[in-house]
Amino acid sequence: MELRAISKRFGGAVVLENFSLNLEEGRVCLFGPSGCGKTTLMRILAGLEKADGGEVVGMAGKRIAYMFQEDRLLPWATALENVALVSDEKRAAKWLAGLGLEEAMDKKPRELSGGMQRRVALARALAYEGDVLLLDEPFKGLDEELKSKAIALVKDRFKGGLMILVTHDAKEAEALAERIYYLAGPPLTLVKP
Ligand code: ATP
Repeated sequence: MELRAISKRFGGAVVLENFSLNLEEGRVCLFGPSGCGKTTLMRILAGLEKADGGEVVGMAGKRIAYMFQEDRLLPWATALENVALVSDEKRAAKWLAGLGLEEAMDKKPRELSGGMQRRVALARALAYEGDVLLLDEPFKGLDEELKSKAIALVKDRFKGGLMILVTHDAKEAEALAERIYYLAGPPLTLVKP
């Protein structure tokens, strides 16, 4: 997958200007401070946002799982139903249990804590067997024990394809990624590969 000379502005704010990055398959981390443009880049990569200029190469036809920074769970559906949207129920239950949510399966998002909702969203992203897994600050708000559990699970789940983790937590990046891109901005720039 490759980003070629991508530009994006919102009104007068230039978020991406001629930004290029070649993403080899594997577990990759985009590491950078809040507001530098990581989410915008991920949205462009996933085709959710249109760039003003440039080209995304190699994403057409790819099946993408995207865990957004905000959880985007269906409010009227239970935790299990939210995850079963993208896989069968047995597998959905397995991912939820793996993230310590056995007791939460039949609860609606509003009956769960913020951290639990986050884990349901993570379970949903992991349950989808696609080609590309995009995780935007997936461990935000989890305590250390759950975080290590979740990191181990993500690592174990990843058998091939491309995974991109967006974070500004160095420990997370080092624990999970094979390759870390250090970013600054806006406009987004590669500080060191
Ligand atoms: P964070 O970690 O805080 O989410 P980020 O690195 O993911 O930060 P982005 O969310 O991509 O950064 O935002 C980069 C810049 O673009 C910010 O200054 C933000 O205010 C701006 N921006 C993003 N989306 C929009 C939008 N839809 N309209 C206007 N400005 C936007």
